[in-house]
Amino acid sequence: MLMNRLLSKADTRRMLAKLEEMYPDAKCALNYSTPFELLVATILSAQCTDDRVNMVTERLFRKYNGPEDYAKVTPEVLQEDIKELGLYRAKAENIVKTSRILLERHRGQVPKTQEELMRLPGVGRKTANVVLSNAYGIPALAVDTHVQRVSNRIGIANSMNPEITEKQVCQRIPKRLWSKVHHILIHHGRRVCTARNPKCDMCPITEFCRFYRKLQSESDLREKVFNAKR
Ligand code: SF4
Repeated sequence: MLMNRLLSKADTRRMLAKLEEMYPDAKCALNYSTPFELLVATILSAQCTDDRVNMVTERLFRKYNGPEDYAKVTPEVLQEDIKELGLYRAKAENIVKTSRILLERHRGQVPKTQEELMRLPGVGRKTANVVLSNAYGIPALAVDTHVQRVSNRIGIANSMNPEITEKQVCQRIPKRLWSKVHHILIHHGRRVCTARNPKCDMCPITEFCRFYRKLQSESDLREKVFNAKR
């Protein structure tokens, strides 16, 4: 039972302070210069690494300036420009459709609300939150695979559902930190708390981590069994 209890707000703050110290420059790894470019880059980032997306968008953003340019081409044409990325057919279709909708309904601007963003093709809650927080500075916590895994391991969330994870994490930290915490948890998930073989021996937050405690108690148990058999 105790294992399922979430970390207290006070401990969450202490734990995050340690991670903040470790990743003082944590920020969005996608390259962009306008909200629209960030929207395109985030749509492209589904199931792809940010480095790969940045390689493609370096070329793409020189060729297409804004929604007007994407709206003019067919998805088949855009596919050719992004075909190094997984799911490129669906992504091309979504970007072209989204660009047309932005021109028809939003005067070519990327909307500033989660509801409006999520009505665009290819834009889910995570993408909407990435755009709101990074492009507009509106507090939002996007839950990607790293945030989901790391939050649940530490014990600031206990759900497989990203929306519930988002709520649980947001409840434990001040609103002004939501965006920052998103970046910090992603950095930690990429560098230390990796999906396979997390590097707990170099992690500064073991004292707070539920997963680490579980590993420790399993190893203690193994040792007891081993000693009992000797
Ligand atoms: S102690 Fe291990 S499992 Fe816990 S956050 Fe650190 S690396 Fe991840």
